[in-house]
Amino acid sequence: MSGQEFFQAGERVGVLTTQPLDRLLDYRAPEGGCFLGAYVEVPLGPRKVLGVVWGPGAGDFDSAKLRAVIRVLDVAPMRTEMRQFLGKAADYTLTPMPAMLRLATRAPGLSDPPSMRKILRRGEGVPDRMTEARTRVLDVLEEYGGLAFTPKELADMADVTPSVVKGLVKQGALREEEAPRDTPYPHLDPELPSKQLTEDQAKAAAVLAEGVHSKRYGTTLLKGVTGSGKTEVYLEAVAAALRAGRQALVLLPEIALTAEFLTRVEARFGAKPAEWHSGATMTERRRVWKMVGQGAAQLVIGARSALFLPFRDLGLIIVDEEHDTSYKQEDGVLYNARDMAVLRAAMCSAQVVLASATPSLETWANAEAGKYNRLDLTSRFGASVLPDMRAVDMRSEDLLPSTWISPTLKQAMKLRLERGEQSLLFLNRRGFAPVTICRACGAQVACDHCDARMVEHRFMKRLMCHQCGETKPVPEACPSCEVEGKMAPVGPGIERLAEEAASLFPEARIAVLSSDLFGSARALKSRIEEIAKGEADIILGTQLVAKGHNFPLLTLVGVIDADLGLQGSDLRAAERTFQLMRQVAGRAGRAERPGEALMQTFQPEHPVIRAILSGDEESFWKAEAAERQAAGVPPYGRMAGIILSGPDLAAVFDLGNAMARNDGPLRQIGAQLFGPAPAPIARVRGRHRVRLLVKAPKGVPLQEALARWTAPLHLKGDLRLSIDIDPQSFF
Ligand code: ADP
Ligand code: ZN
Repeated sequence: MSGQEFFQAGERVGVLTTQPLDRLLDYRAPEGGCFLGAYVEVPLGPRKVLGVVWGPGAGDFDSAKLRAVIRVLDVAPMRTEMRQFLGKAADYTLTPMPAMLRLATRAPGLSDPPSMRKILRRGEGVPDRMTEARTRVLDVLEEYGGLAFTPKELADMADVTPSVVKGLVKQGALREEEAPRDTPYPHLDPELPSKQLTEDQAKAAAVLAEGVHSKRYGTTLLKGVTGSGKTEVYLEAVAAALRAGRQALVLLPEIALTAEFLTRVEARFGAKPAEWHSGATMTERRRVWKMVGQGAAQLVIGARSALFLPFRDLGLIIVDEEHDTSYKQEDGVLYNARDMAVLRAAMCSAQVVLASATPSLETWANAEAGKYNRLDLTSRFGASVLPDMRAVDMRSEDLLPSTWISPTLKQAMKLRLERGEQSLLFLNRRGFAPVTICRACGAQVACDHCDARMVEHRFMKRLMCHQCGETKPVPEACPSCEVEGKMAPVGPGIERLAEEAASLFPEARIAVLSSDLFGSARALKSRIEEIAKGEADIILGTQLVAKGHNFPLLTLVGVIDADLGLQGSDLRAAERTFQLMRQVAGRAGRAERPGEALMQTFQPEHPVIRAILSGDEESFWKAEAAERQAAGVPPYGRMAGIILSGPDLAAVFDLGNAMARNDGPLRQIGAQLFGPAPAPIARVRGRHRVRLLVKAPKGVPLQEALARWTAPLHLKGDLRLSIDIDPQSFF
């Protein structure tokens, strides 16, 4: 790296480590010196820890005691823009730098010496005798002229036993070599033919490509209904980045990272991209991290933490389903990947594409204000059209007690069964029943550690707390009045709905898609793929099904309780409901079959329900934006949530009250403080939770004020404080 600052051996350097310390540590540069940004191993007490050379040493540490960097790791030094990005992200989210560095080094075995593996090439030697098996091995090498393979690859390709390969090595017909285990990703070719884009799509793709060519920062909202070809369009922006020799990153909500998506990328560019997500193996993660840094991975498809990979020359970030709430990390470092993508792109002159059928109000407003560009894809590709959406007015439907599928919905499902098409019932509630109540005394079963009711999961034959995961058997006798045999489930969960569907349609094949019913993301994905192939007639799903899966045979969506999301006190309740309902409805009729969406509601005249049904999105956004503006809440004002927690309620409240009394730094910037008050979920895992909410006008230095406000605090004992900038949820 030319122009990069270099420290000679013995010079004082300041190292940022991954250890929770609030400052850089001084060391001596090792023999051979090191670059600014070098990843190093340094001694800390008796241990060796990972760090990055962050600048010259501060010099206030006794130079006689100064220890030397142990060694420089064999990876490209961290680039200046990455150090700036981590610094800014830390300032924005009020996260200590060591925690940011941990995020940026989440690849196992980084400090291990480069791992090598044995590969085989054609050697000079001539085998003493040729067998058919031996000939096959040599033929394979001939065929791939000059390439080398591992012994296992070679044996597999030639279809021989490992001993045949070993024999050839002994005779010198094969030569052993050492090669690095982490290999570059196959080359992606942007010149392979793309799909023939429609006029709409081609225009959008051209605008995005132009942005990439400008080599400047810019963010674009790419809005279009599910199936309008957003993916096809942004893959052309990726092609533009690859042509320009720059790297691209596509962020997807974790669950949308399917084999189907990777196959599409492969079809477009001729090879599979690098993948970064929690399901990837340790070896694969290390390979991605290293190759991204060397520029030997042109495209990464990843979950939100892929933003912290050490790209060498990132030119484009796509955030698909940008409104998805899973982009907000809810523990550890609290960041929103969508916002961090914009920050990262600004630091490295890259373009950002935010793709969604139902953008977040934040993004919509930024586009409205001209901060983001906006491109609209208005029609669905091919013959598919948006489903016909209707409300089922539950006030005039005849339902038996403890049933939730209305006669109208049942009739529509029956029709699909007869036609061999799929129906999907959507209910955003896991488990069998949300409440277990004693019919003798009225007591409800609650979690012993949390302020939450236990949810019955009949599949596990247990009650479960959705806050802490604690389970217990369904009690025979009421824990409160001890009367036996009176415990009864109240209300529907997805499992109970499945039971109802099975009794209505005993001959139908029923599939339940709820995250807790699958041991792994992989198992869930393969089930989704089976369903897409038609291996189910009725699908029951929680929030999970709203996200980007393509079920070609699906023509009916029934929303069991469209009112569910409207009850919360959350400022985003209306927005969430609107997005979720439109996404779910978008599942129907993706292929060449027209779909229908039925929404069961007790309040068909509610403005949000009416906006969903009318399909007049812009007026929904405008009305919602006006309300938020009037209330001075995001995106027209700023918020920060403070959660205090600890085992002793009084101590937690004392801290909250002390913070409220000393809110000078907040008042100085015109911010208001609310609370302390018990959090909506007041106890989790035995810890009491108290929250404060800060509301500030837009454009004031909120983080800086928060930092000044919280700096003097001493958190005694087991008290904990976390700050959530732009909170998404209020639990
Ligand atoms: P979105 O990302 O907006 O949901 P996709 O890009 O996934 O939409 O497109 C939906 C389906 O239509 C995909 O199967 C895609 O391959 C297909 N499709 C979209 N545009 C075209 C096109 N111009 N030519 C051929 N197929 C297309
Ligand atoms: Zn609990």
